[in-house]
Amino acid sequence: MVLSSFEIKERLERVLLRVQKPGRYVGGELNQVVKPWDSVNTHVGLVFPDLYDLGLSNLGLTILYETLNKREDTLAERAYNPWLDMEEIMRQAEIPLYSLESKHALADFDIIGFSLPYETLYTNTLNLLDLAKIPMFSNQRTESHPLVIAGGHACYNPEPMSAFIDAFVIGEGEEVIHDVVNAYQRWKKPGCSRITLLKSLSQIWGVYVPSFYSPSYHADGTITAIDKLIEEAPYPIRKRILPKLPPPPTHFLVPTIDVVQNRISVEIMRGCTRGCRFCHAGMITRPVRERSINEIVEAIQESLDNTGFEEIALLSLSSSDYSQILELIPEVSQRFANKHVSISLPSLRIDSFSVGLMEQLKNNRQGGFTLAPEAATERMRNIINKPISTQQLLETAHAIYSRGWQTIKLYFMIGHPSETLEDVHAIADLCKAVIVEGHKVIGKRASLHVGVSTFVPKPHTPFQWVTCDNMEQITAKQLLLKKELGGPGLKYNWTDPEETLLEAWLSRGDRRMSEVIYRAWQLGAKFDAWQDQYQLNAWQEAFKAAGVDPDFYTYRMRNLDEVFPWDHISPGVHKSFLAKEYQRSMASKLLPDCREQCYACGVLPDYASLRRQYPGKGWKCPDVSPRRKLTKTITAES
Ligand code: SF4
Repeated sequence: MVLSSFEIKERLERVLLRVQKPGRYVGGELNQVVKPWDSVNTHVGLVFPDLYDLGLSNLGLTILYETLNKREDTLAERAYNPWLDMEEIMRQAEIPLYSLESKHALADFDIIGFSLPYETLYTNTLNLLDLAKIPMFSNQRTESHPLVIAGGHACYNPEPMSAFIDAFVIGEGEEVIHDVVNAYQRWKKPGCSRITLLKSLSQIWGVYVPSFYSPSYHADGTITAIDKLIEEAPYPIRKRILPKLPPPPTHFLVPTIDVVQNRISVEIMRGCTRGCRFCHAGMITRPVRERSINEIVEAIQESLDNTGFEEIALLSLSSSDYSQILELIPEVSQRFANKHVSISLPSLRIDSFSVGLMEQLKNNRQGGFTLAPEAATERMRNIINKPISTQQLLETAHAIYSRGWQTIKLYFMIGHPSETLEDVHAIADLCKAVIVEGHKVIGKRASLHVGVSTFVPKPHTPFQWVTCDNMEQITAKQLLLKKELGGPGLKYNWTDPEETLLEAWLSRGDRRMSEVIYRAWQLGAKFDAWQDQYQLNAWQEAFKAAGVDPDFYTYRMRNLDEVFPWDHISPGVHKSFLAKEYQRSMASKLLPDCREQCYACGVLPDYASLRRQYPGKGWKCPDVSPRRKLTKTITAES
């Protein structure tokens, strides 16, 4: 029996003072929306499967929360993953997972939407379904259970979670979430079966219902084909995009406790034309679409009025590439000059132009200036398609230190395809050269923070065919950097190779991983993204118990014609383009920014009809002539 919101509130009152940070579990933030439960006919629970402190500022969830609550017939409420102390108490007191706004049990909602931006949230998702007392496996749910959907970047390979999620949203959520709610409302009548709902969802552009597809396997474990099980299921499932970005959210939740990010986030553009070959986000978010200066400035003003926040982040994958950046920055810095706000502009190109932009923002320089060269030799930069000369980086560092910043943060990645120890040594040499520039300008006050992550090949990228570095290789590279990156002013951080391993297993996993995830959760795995909680042993045991070889997913070069578990999901960029990019990479050939010239990655013509609806400078893909015959149009069935 599901507890009422009244009963949940009563039980919470008895336990909340026994946990750390009770503020995580009570809601009540400025801008939260609480509608009378019975005033609407559809109740959507939006769940971020990590701690409140991280999830509160998640932009995707903020967008969905705002857009759904604008509907008169629907309410959206939130839930996050309780920390271990609270989970234990909830289980003891038999408090199910509940929404922060009305304290209704999640099992009482019609639709539950999980945000899955990264793979290490999978076991938390299972844990939350369990805590919500909702059957964990999709095929165990009946008409009386909520519809469980998921969206976010990790869902571009939905297969590892296919046993648990009824329907995945592939692509941008702003419009499709309304289509899902509408389909649900049309379906919700006595006597309608769950399969009818799933069939109708499968007809929505950007929705993938895994139970209507089935993979078959070769004897070596690779996939023979992924077949549709019902005639009307679309193939491939095309990601949903918007021809024009809608107005950004402006009612950010203002928490009553400290969280990781207390700020206004305004996405100035979506997508990236740079084509870094390791970058999942850069490939799956194409085409590039920009917001106008006016929209951005208005959104900042409204958000400041609604929240009182003092920090604004102008988000995009490559901020210096926003075509009107030279007009936007003076406009923003002048307009909000006396509001006592700090404005950040992440993801800047490595050149003095970026230093000039940051200088115009008159930012507090305490936080340091962040740059991401990713590799340190020309050979590696050609392989990953991120051409920055060492000279350019040193000149930029000199300019940064000269203009008042004392700290530079540099991000690199080890483990790129064909990387050698010499390439890694070059990272250390480059960092030493950067700190020397700092010493020349500001002496011992100069500092350099170096963050080195380990590359994980991702689906839908030119590196989806490559093997990962093994533990010995990663350890040798990290040891080399630890030895070299000491000394005055230098600070070095790295990612734990065991965590990298989990991301690598899950990123390119197939349906057989569902059982591994389930068993890992049974063995106690959760909060896998938290270094102190991650349990490698549980995962190793889970692979053994499920009879699945973990190395199959990590240490294996794929043939160019291998069928991947995610091949039926189309992000717009075609596999043939990715294969050519992979071959160019192995030949150390660069592919310049596609704003200069279109390389026919697949986004056009797949989205030609949308491009036509919104011609001009909003997109960075070329215009499509109205007379040109469409090779494809966007429908769920195409
Ligand atoms: S269609 Fe052309 S311009 Fe558009 S993202 Fe692809 S390569 Fe770039």
